[in-house]
Amino acid sequence: MRILVTGGAGFLGSHLVDRLMEQGHEVLCLDNFFTGSKHNILKWMDSPYFEVIRHDITEPIRVEVDQIYHLACPASPVHYQYNPVKTVKTSVLGTLHMLGLAKRIKARLLLASTSEVYGDPDVHPQTEAYRGNVNPIGIRACYDEGKRIAETLCFDYHRQNNVDIRVMRIFNTYGPRMQENDGRVVSNFIVQALRGIPLTVYGDGQQTRSFCYVSDLIEGMMRLMNNEEHIGPVNIGNPNEYTILQLAQTIQRLINPDVEIQFEPLPQDDPQQRQPDITRAKDWLGWTPTIELEEGLKETIADFRDRLSLT
Ligand code: NAD
Ligand code: UDP
Repeated sequence: MRILVTGGAGFLGSHLVDRLMEQGHEVLCLDNFFTGSKHNILKWMDSPYFEVIRHDITEPIRVEVDQIYHLACPASPVHYQYNPVKTVKTSVLGTLHMLGLAKRIKARLLLASTSEVYGDPDVHPQTEAYRGNVNPIGIRACYDEGKRIAETLCFDYHRQNNVDIRVMRIFNTYGPRMQENDGRVVSNFIVQALRGIPLTVYGDGQQTRSFCYVSDLIEGMMRLMNNEEHIGPVNIGNPNEYTILQLAQTIQRLINPDVEIQFEPLPQDDPQQRQPDITRAKDWLGWTPTIELEEGLKETIADFRDRLSLT
């Protein structure tokens, strides 16, 4: 198949590109390199079955493909809050353009949505039926509401124009190739521990997240894309839930027990807890995560060590 991956030079996108190329597909990677990097896709540059298009999805584009994995959007709070208006445009106009393309060329489109559509949830764990608790005027809204509208657009294009959609709600995912300056918790703690500087825990560290290793996530994503029965939304994430303090202590133990933990103010609207209910993913896709946190962290730490040349 010919497959378009928007955001293909990013963290998740580049892992997806690897899997698709290994399966023998022809892959078009579209990216504006805001948070993505050519290093992530370097190994495919010489392949005749791989193409990179430098393009901003807030502008329309015409290509001919069979499937569209639509991932382009900054995902770390630090990056999506850098230019919130641009984040909204990326989610809303970007998804509109990709759905318009999917409609015209009759391609299947998978949207990389997020657990952030649940906001600071008052239902725990979160099932796909839960409608969320998002502050529409807060500093996370550009991302959360942007993705909610992106989902709305998918379902409206599906009902109105028969566009073949798949919607996945991704929970916190980590792994090799996260950017050193990504700003998300796993990369921050690993980089800090490797450099021997204090781990910055925001608030009292009692807020929770559930961390999914990247290979598990990509497997779930591809199963949903190629499922003929279900369009979603489907939660994909690891249901093992940890407090942020537990995560800090684990990374401290794995890298440098002498490194300190430093408490800093909790950012506005930071969700208190997050854990996916993955019943749907199990029933519909036969998917469950396989990589435990410590195992995944070890792989991620090894990758950061290589890239930062730290021992
Ligand atoms: P990332 O920042 O590494 O990748 C995003 C990619 O999109 C980058 O390569 C970036 O340059 C590109 N991009 C951003 N704006 C663009 C634009 N206007 N035009 C073209 N390209 C643009 O983030 P990621 O972690 O790989 O996330 C990928 C997708 O998965 C995002 O849509 C994100 O919302 C979603 N997601 C990720 C997580 C996670 O934990 N990693 C969780 C929930 C949802
Ligand atoms: N966090 C932290 N220290 C950091 C970065 C993040 O304590 O250096 C916290 C953050 O406040 C949040 C959790 O870790 O409670 C996850 O943050 P991240 O930015 O990774 O993702 P999200 O909040 O979008 O789930």
